[in-house]
Amino acid sequence: MSIRFEDQGRARADIMRALQDFQAGDADWRGGKVPLYVFSGPEDVGEIGKAAFNLFFSENALGARRAFPSLLRMEQEVVGMGLDLFHAPAGAAGNMTSGGTESIVMAVKACRDWNRAHRGEPRFRGNLVLPETAHPAFDKAAALMDLEIRRVPARADYRADVPAMAAAMDAETMMLVGSAPCFPFGVIDPLAELSDLAVARGVWLHSDACVGGWMAPFAAEIGRDIPQFDLGLPGVRSLSADLHKFGFCPKPASVVFYRDAALQGFQEMKFDVWPSGPFGTQTLVGTRAGGAVAASWAVLRYLGRAGFREVAREVLTMRDAFIAGLTAIPGMQIRGTPELANIAFGCDDIDMGQVATLMGERGWIPGMVRRPASLHLMMSLHHEASREAFVRDVAECVATVRGHSGVARTDASYA
Ligand SMILES: *Cc1c(COP(=O)(O)O)cnc(C)c1O
Repeated sequence: MSIRFEDQGRARADIMRALQDFQAGDADWRGGKVPLYVFSGPEDVGEIGKAAFNLFFSENALGARRAFPSLLRMEQEVVGMGLDLFHAPAGAAGNMTSGGTESIVMAVKACRDWNRAHRGEPRFRGNLVLPETAHPAFDKAAALMDLEIRRVPARADYRADVPAMAAAMDAETMMLVGSAPCFPFGVIDPLAELSDLAVARGVWLHSDACVGGWMAPFAAEIGRDIPQFDLGLPGVRSLSADLHKFGFCPKPASVVFYRDAALQGFQEMKFDVWPSGPFGTQTLVGTRAGGAVAASWAVLRYLGRAGFREVAREVLTMRDAFIAGLTAIPGMQIRGTPELANIAFGCDDIDMGQVATLMGERGWIPGMVRRPASLHLMMSLHHEASREAFVRDVAECVATVRGHSGVARTDASYA
């Protein structure tokens, strides 16, 4: 397709119509057909996020210190609420970022530079020991900084295998990672055990609570079984938690936390290299959407802990109903014991890839896990409306695939 940049602009009405036409061709996430990418809380929460975002639509958080004390204050309050929620010790600190990837890149950068300073090796490039279920954002960080990643197979219950991770460490190991929970299976790694290991070896532990961080504490408050994962564990030196996932804030918004402001200092970038004088940012990006800061502040203050508990209750009740429906399908297993609302499920006697293909033909965007072959679902409130249709379609697609393979096995040519 060759695109021309037309000389003449188009009318506003034409533009809006074109946008709506484009959108009409997208997958129907509102109807629950998309198993990830979009996270929704109650409608009023979405509304206040949008309104706050629009009020600060033009402001730039890069200028928070010089021009926009409003944004500085709101970011400090968002970070402060997170420090309170995640049991941070006195002196802890954090920054808002554009997402989980930036939060993780910053934590890895801070860890590397802390190691460089403490080892007295300005060129030090160490390795990171991760459970295989950790997010590829760590591999991105390692690719950017030329670090080595060591992925260690998880236990049979899909949680990090701490003794195996200990065995994968050596003198060059600079970071251990645990997820709360991991994306593929939704299970929380044994971060308390990882914390003991990190303290014993003097190694930096990052708790990746990107997907679950803003929901797990509220799930615990309503009586769900949530293993400890946060800055209350002495070995956790940094933690990432995405506001734009189960914090129900507009994109782009995440927070990276450090148990000590001195550790946070190692993520900073400061240069005095160009005609305009010194240039410094605490995180990677320069210009940052002021709207994302204001919207996160608005959503956290609007819901409060009680509001988040209610949303957690609603999401997890829905999740339980999905799990009940799915496990009623013959042969269907939930992979591990997921703590929150991202789950993987499959039948081991049939090709789940074929089930995914059939689900795709029925208009669902199927989420997949490769090992073990499973479907994947990350649920938030907009998935409730299509829950029964989804479960019924999975059941029918499983039956179809099982029927076909039955036919193949008894085919006369094999007799
Ligand atoms: C989503 C996710 C990330 C990356 O976050 P982005 O906001 O997509 O950059 C990192 N870790 C986990 C566990 C995630 O689920």
